[in-house]
Amino acid sequence: MKMRKKSDLPNKLCEVCGLSFAWRKKWEKDWASVKYCSERCRRARSSASVKNSMDVLAIALVKHI
Ligand SMILES: [Zn+2]
Repeated sequence: MKMRKKSDLPNKLCEVCGLSFAWRKKWEKDWASVKYCSERCRRARSSASVKNSMDVLAIALVKHI
């Protein structure tokens, strides 16, 4: 019998923060269209069309603190 590990789940890179994130149950219907690791990243992307990813990363870090 084969155990299914978490690492077997599909992974994607967040377009905002660049971190990889794994498939989640809540995304099972629209995984193909998921581009961000979190709602916060999704909003950050849609509210400000910043092309410089370093700027976005800095903003994300500031919000974290
Ligand atoms: Zn993210």
